[in-house]
Amino acid sequence: MLPFSRVTIIGLGLIGSSIARGIRQHMPSVRVTGHDADPAVRETAARIGLCDDVTDTPGAAVIDADLVILCVPVGAMGEAAAAIATDLPGDAIVSDVGSCKESVVAAVRAALPDAVFVPAHPVAGTENSGPEAGFASLFHGRWCIVTPPEGTDAPATERVAEFWRRLGADVETMAPGHHDRVLAITSHLPHLIAYTIVGTASDLEEVTQSEVIKYSAGGFRDFTRIAASDPTMWRDVFLANREGVLEMLQRFSEDLSALQRAIRWGKGDELFDLFTRTRAVRRSIIEQGQDDAAPDFGRSHD
Ligand code: NAP
Repeated sequence: MLPFSRVTIIGLGLIGSSIARGIRQHMPSVRVTGHDADPAVRETAARIGLCDDVTDTPGAAVIDADLVILCVPVGAMGEAAAAIATDLPGDAIVSDVGSCKESVVAAVRAALPDAVFVPAHPVAGTENSGPEAGFASLFHGRWCIVTPPEGTDAPATERVAEFWRRLGADVETMAPGHHDRVLAITSHLPHLIAYTIVGTASDLEEVTQSEVIKYSAGGFRDFTRIAASDPTMWRDVFLANREGVLEMLQRFSEDLSALQRAIRWGKGDELFDLFTRTRAVRRSIIEQGQDDAAPDFGRSHD
């Protein structure tokens, strides 16, 4: 039996539209209703037939839902939750897809104190945004971390987990605070580093912009993919997971200083040992099916 039959998606960007497409593909009998604050996004969603119905107000979208998923930037979760408070059916389950969990749990609980809220985070995405950027297979073989705060209704948590399995994801359960520390190192810090490197390169005086772009195949261009990610989403992530990011940044700065020392004092063995360990991490990611084994990220070299 399907875990839900009437799903409402609030926020029809990359993640919301990928969920809508995934439902169409994997649970075609489920009725999908969508709403987005942006009229242009609603218009596009209606034109491309993303949902069975796209509503002009958030209240109209949730009125008969059994699952409501908030797919808006982390900083807008509280506002999006408050906007559905009056019309949310008493037996509906509310979930979200935010990249940080503790701040979202606090914001949604404040706005919807009586609702059953099962937070989740699909660890899948691209650097693109908007309703046309989504695709049904985005979650296939990727992890979705379900983060029920203590005391969350267990059957509701299982229904949300089953929903993500049906979209093709593997599900892991974690406490919200632990999620935020894990994601600080695996996602948030890498984005911060990419934003820094690309920012520094574009500010250099002795190397011209055209040289940076011309020779980017040396490694730089792989950082630019991450640094092209949505500015609103990532501003919100750093502000929402401030503690987790600052903690990991402190560790990272210490390790960077150690590397700096190794280079200064010509300690080649230290560099070699670290680079050998990091190569093994890449191998494990490929072995666990979290990336393609094709060299150079599968780029064509014809
Ligand atoms: P997106 O493509 O920018 O879409 C977000 C949509 O939500 C936009 O159309 C936005 O409209 C709309 N919106 C903003 N505030 C709203 C509100 N109060 N009510 C209704 N709609 C509202 O973003 P996304 O990449 O799908 O990200 C959505 C969520 O997924 C974020 O919480 C993010 O942390 C999480 N996530 C993202 C990724 C990723 O790689 N992108 C991966 C996993 C999880 P405006 O443009 O007018 O603001």
